[in-house]
Amino acid sequence: MPEQAPTFHVVHVAVHTPVHSGVGTPLSYTHSSPLPAGCLVRVPLGTRHLLGVVWPAPPDETPIDPSKLRPLDAVMQGLEPMNGHWQRLVGFAARYYQRSVGEIAMAGLPPALRDMTAEQLAKRLQPPKPKQRSKKAAAALAAAAEAAAAPPQAPQAPQAPQAPQAPQAPQALIALSAEQQSVCSQIEQNSGPFLLYGSTGSGKTEVYMRVVQQALDASPQAQALVMVPEINLTPQLQERFEARFVPLFGAQAVVSMHSGMTDVQRLKSWLAAHTGQARIVLGTRMSVFASMPGLQVIVVDEEHDPSYKQQEGARYSARDLALWRGHDCGAKVILGSATPSLESWHASDPAVGRYLRLHMPSRIGAGALPRLRMVDMTQQPKKTVFSPPLLAAITERVQKGEQSLILLNRRGFAPVLFCADCNWKSDCPHCSAHQVFHKGDRTLRCHHCGDTRRVPHACPGCGNPDILPLGKGTEQLEEELERLLRNVQRPDGRPARIGRIDADTTKHKGALEEQLALVHSGEVDVLVGTQMVAKGHDFRRITLVAAVQPDGALFSSDFRAPERLFCLLMQAAGRAGRDASYISAQGSHPEMWIQSFEPQHMVYQALRQHDYPSFAQQQLRERQDAAMPPFAFQALVRADAKTQDAAQAFLRAATDAARQGQLPHLDDVFLYPPIPMTVQRVANVERAQMLIEATDRRALQRFLHAWQPWLHWVRGHPSHKSIVRWLVDVDPLTL
Ligand code: ADP
Ligand code: ZN
Ligand code: ZN
Repeated sequence: MPEQAPTFHVVHVAVHTPVHSGVGTPLSYTHSSPLPAGCLVRVPLGTRHLLGVVWPAPPDETPIDPSKLRPLDAVMQGLEPMNGHWQRLVGFAARYYQRSVGEIAMAGLPPALRDMTAEQLAKRLQPPKPKQRSKKAAAALAAAAEAAAAPPQAPQAPQAPQAPQAPQAPQALIALSAEQQSVCSQIEQNSGPFLLYGSTGSGKTEVYMRVVQQALDASPQAQALVMVPEINLTPQLQERFEARFVPLFGAQAVVSMHSGMTDVQRLKSWLAAHTGQARIVLGTRMSVFASMPGLQVIVVDEEHDPSYKQQEGARYSARDLALWRGHDCGAKVILGSATPSLESWHASDPAVGRYLRLHMPSRIGAGALPRLRMVDMTQQPKKTVFSPPLLAAITERVQKGEQSLILLNRRGFAPVLFCADCNWKSDCPHCSAHQVFHKGDRTLRCHHCGDTRRVPHACPGCGNPDILPLGKGTEQLEEELERLLRNVQRPDGRPARIGRIDADTTKHKGALEEQLALVHSGEVDVLVGTQMVAKGHDFRRITLVAAVQPDGALFSSDFRAPERLFCLLMQAAGRAGRDASYISAQGSHPEMWIQSFEPQHMVYQALRQHDYPSFAQQQLRERQDAAMPPFAFQALVRADAKTQDAAQAFLRAATDAARQGQLPHLDDVFLYPPIPMTVQRVANVERAQMLIEATDRRALQRFLHAWQPWLHWVRGHPSHKSIVRWLVDVDPLTL
C-alpha cells in the first residue's frame, strides 16, 4: 500500500512569551490532528519548551504555509480542554487589562502544570494503586484511569467513587435571622449581581453558605467559588465551609487556592475544580481564573479590599472579573462588605440599579457597635503617643481581664533615624525613601527595595554618636506599652502582657497562627498591630480598639485615602465587643478610641455614628464634582528608567504618538502630563507615570487598545533605550 503523505493541521496556541512581544496574539504550530480550542499543549519557542493553550483562530486569519511552522511538542493528554467560559474570561481579561492572552491564561493555571511534561501529567493523573478495595471500586478506578488516558476530545469520564469514609453527621442548621431570611430569598428570586451590605458579625458568611448549598443541592454538577482578600483569612473560612459541606458532599468537596500553598497542593486543588470533583473553591484573587465547569455561585467577601487588585504583572481586579465571569456564565455573584467600595455602593444605588443592594444591619450575638472616644491631640502635650485618658482606659481593661487592640499602620521601631547636629537621615541609597529603624535586630531596612544594613554606631555624616529615632512604629509602641503598663496587674495577679502582630513578627510559617492563638487564649492583654489584625479575626474578649495616629491618610494626595481609612477604622471597630454575652457578663461597653489632630474631620464624625451610607454619599458627591471614579474611568501608564528625564520622555513620546496616530477617541480621553511617582526612585530605578482619564469606559478601552502597538513602537525606538520597563494599569487603585 502506498504510504499516505502526513497531513498537518495548523493550531493557534496562546503562550506566555518571555519577551513582552506587544501583539500578544497566539502563535501558530502544526499538529497531526486538529485540536479543540482550550486544549493544553506543550510547544517549542526558541530553545525553550512552554505550556500553551490552543486558541480559536483569529477571525482575520491569513492562510499560513504549514511547512514554515514548527510542530507542537505534545498534547497534555487526559485533561478536558479548558471550556468556552474560561477561554472567554481569559480573552476578556487580556483585552481589558491590555495584556497578552497567553500571559493571562498562564496566570490562571497552576505553576506546577506550567512546568510539567505531558508524561509527568499522565503519571499524576493515574489514580493510586488500589489496595484492598472491592472489585467494584477497582473496576471503576480502572475505567477512570482509561478515561484519563483518552485524548481530550473524549467525553468526560465519570469520577471514581470516593474512598469510603467514616460517615459524618451533617450539621444541624441554625435558624436564620429575619434579615438573613429576607436576603436569602431575594438572592433566590433575583439574578443579581448582589451587594450584601452587612455589619461585621451580621451573619454574611452564613448567607453565603446557604446560597452555596442551595445551588449545590440543585445540581450534582454545580460548583461555587468563594473569594476572600487574604491568605490569612482562608483557614477560618475553610474550617467553616468544611464543617458544613464535607458531611454533605464528601472530603474532596472543598478545596483552597492561594499562594501560600505548595505547587503540588495547588495543582491538586486545580485538578479537582477542573474535573468537577471539588464543589467549592475557596481562594484569594488568583482563584477567579479557576477552571470550574459547573460554576453557579461566586462570592466576593470583603469586596472593598484592595488585595483583590493584582499589583504585579497583569494588573487585574479579581472582583471586577468575578462580576464579568458571573454575567458570562450565568452564575450568581454576591459581593459582601460592611464598608463597600464606593464603586459598588454607587452601582447598587437604586437610581443606578446595576447591582441589587441587600442590607443586614444587625450584629448577631454581638453587642452594640463600640462607642467612639475621640482624643483631641492638639490639647495634649507635644510628642504624646498614648494620651492619659487612653492609657487609663487600657489600664482599666487589663485590670478587668479584658483585651485591647492598638492599631498603627507602620511597622518597625521608627520610620527614620536622624542626626540633630548635621540633619543626616537614614535615607535608602537606592530609593527616594527613608530606611526604617528595626530595633529588635538593630537594622535599618528599606521597605521598598529590601536593602538591610546594620545601624551605624555614630552619624555617618558628622560622627555624632547620638542619632535618634524619629516617629513611631509598632515595635516602639510595644516597647512603650511594656513600660507604661509595667505595674499593671491582671485579675490573676500576673503582669500585663503585650503582644505584637505585623509583617515582621509573622514572617515565618505558622507564626501568625501561633500569635493569634495567644490572643485567643487570653495570654495577651494588649495587642499592637498593623492593619493585618483589623481584618476578619474573631477576637472574643477585645473590648477596646485604639487607632493612635490615624491622621496621615487625611492629608494623602490619593483621593481614595479617606475611603480606605474609614473602612479600616470600621473594620477595626468591628473587632471590639464581638461576643454580647461576654460583654454583658463583664459589664463593660466596647469602645473605639481615636487620637487625632483633626477630631472634627468628617471621616471621624461618620465613624462616630457608624454611618457608612452618609460617609459614602458625601464622598461620592465630591467624586462626582471632581469627575473622579466611579464617575470617570482611569488608566495609568508607568515607565521605569535610569533617569527621571528618560522615563518622562518616553511617556511624552507615547502621548505624541497617540496624537500623530490620530487614535480613536483621542478627543474623549484626557492625557495628563507625566509626573514622578510618589516614591520616585526604587532600587536605583526612576519611576514616572501618567494618568489617562475618560468619562466613558468604552472610549477609554478603545483608545488604550489602539494605543498599545504605538507604545511598543515608541519603546522600540533607539532614543528610549534606557527604559527598563513600562506598563499599563487599567482602573488603578493607587495613584
Ligand atoms: P459576618 O460574615 O457577617 O461577619 P458571620 O456569618 O461570621 O458574620 O456570623 C457571625 C457569628 O454569628 C458567627 O459566629 C455565626 O456562627 C453566628 N451566626 C450567623 N448567623 C446566625 C444565626 N442565624 N443564628 C445564630 N448565630 C448565627
Ligand atoms: Zn550628623
Ligand atoms: Zn530602598
